[in-house]
Amino acid sequence: MDGVVHIVGAGLAGLSAAIRLVEAGYSVEVYEAAKIAGGRCRSYFDPALGCTIDNGNHLVLSGNGATLDFLSRIEAKHELSGPPEAAFAFADLASHERWTLRPNRGRLPWWIFDAKRRVPASRARDYLAAAKILHAPALASVSDVMVCSGPLYERLWRPVLLAALNTGPREADAGLAAQILRETLAAGGQACRPLIARAGLSATFIEPALRRLAKNQVSVHFGRRLREIGLTGGRPGGLDFGEVQIELGSRETVILAVPSWTAAGLVPGLQVPNDSRAIINAHFRIEPPTTLPPILGIINGLAEWLFAYPGRLSVTISSADRLLDLPREALAEAIWNDVSTLTGLPRDLPPWQIVKERRATFAATPDEVARRPPARTHIPGLILAGDWTATELPATIEGAIRSGYKAASVVASASAARSPLATIPAQQHAA
Ligand SMILES: Cc1cc2nc3c(=O)[nH]c(=O)nc-3n(C[C@H](O)[C@H](O)[C@H](O)COP(=O)(O)OP(=O)(O)OC[C@H]3O[C@@H](n4cnc5c(N)ncnc54)[C@H](O)[C@@H]3O)c2cc1C
Repeated sequence: MDGVVHIVGAGLAGLSAAIRLVEAGYSVEVYEAAKIAGGRCRSYFDPALGCTIDNGNHLVLSGNGATLDFLSRIEAKHELSGPPEAAFAFADLASHERWTLRPNRGRLPWWIFDAKRRVPASRARDYLAAAKILHAPALASVSDVMVCSGPLYERLWRPVLLAALNTGPREADAGLAAQILRETLAAGGQACRPLIARAGLSATFIEPALRRLAKNQVSVHFGRRLREIGLTGGRPGGLDFGEVQIELGSRETVILAVPSWTAAGLVPGLQVPNDSRAIINAHFRIEPPTTLPPILGIINGLAEWLFAYPGRLSVTISSADRLLDLPREALAEAIWNDVSTLTGLPRDLPPWQIVKERRATFAATPDEVARRPPARTHIPGLILAGDWTATELPATIEGAIRSGYKAASVVASASAARSPLATIPAQQHAA
């Protein structure tokens, strides 16, 4: 087997690459700048609320094959929970209507012909018209190929695409939106069951991965922030972590699984998406009413998605840059106002926390999407991973894990070119 694979960044991209490489028999070392792993997908104890919360509510779907595969490999698939059938509850704060979207299991979408399963005031032909997006030309935005108005847009496409792309759908890349639709609604309700990490993101995605790596004698070195990659003979020859320097042999490989802006600072000439979008989450320490669904989509509110957990309600607002400078208390009050109206809970603000992730994801606009680099760089032995690389998906858990798998498969195919070795498929979809 070839030399050590050095993975920089212990978010989902880095951890998923590490798991695949360890399984394939590689020696792996992982370096993480922070004191904990997980990056943008992590849990922590919040003193203001007196409980553990996630940095943001994360939703995955049953069609996210790489995500489920990763969880199977780290024996944590049981940590995701969701309904047996695809069902999405919505409430409209302006009209006070409530409905549940219920796509049928199979690929043939007969649910659009059933008024009880589709969006109120929408017609079957509105859904068929939206299928045009599946054939969008390169560099088109959603508004170039879809009518961005009317009940179906306001009540389905806008909230779903905004949540998935973290970018206003009108300006968002139509190709990315199409890929989401292909892998979800167009794949049938069986691919759309909403799944949540009930015990928290770290307990589901991160701690089991770290346990699996520890079992395989892989060290994750925390508090190691990579400052420079030295080159020797055109390949990575050394990693400079400030107080610690590591020399690399000629057969050793580096997977850079850090955020885009960090990668751009470490790899001269690397083109990455520059523009980002924020996500704001508001957490409220209060027992949700028993009648509330686990996830509620909100139309015509400041709050966009309401998640109910035992003892806590959490709200997500995507592409939230416009709200970043608002005073936190005013934001908490405005969001709680929506929640109280929807749930009938008292108007008085319960204990709260606002979490602002300023650079939650890259802006999924056509220009930024065109700047996503592939896993292979111009430097032999230096491979990229991360939700911002060219995964064909927006910045999501599924995209991050696919990028990690892809990086692992690039390492394996480079080894195979030097000596016969089983390759690692970039995508592995376990049921
Ligand atoms: C608030 C919020 C809500 C979200 N909601 C959803 C959702 O509902 N569904 C979904 O699928 N996705 C969601 N996402 C997206 C998802 O969390 C990310 O796509 C995914 O976690 C990215 O993983 P990554 O490994 O690519 O990057 P990161 O998680 O950013 O990992 C990069 C790691 O590199 C480390 N690092 C940085 N610089 C250095 C350095 N110089 N040296 C060493 N280490 C370094 C960082 O500390 C970090 O641990 C959400 C994201 C946020 C922020």
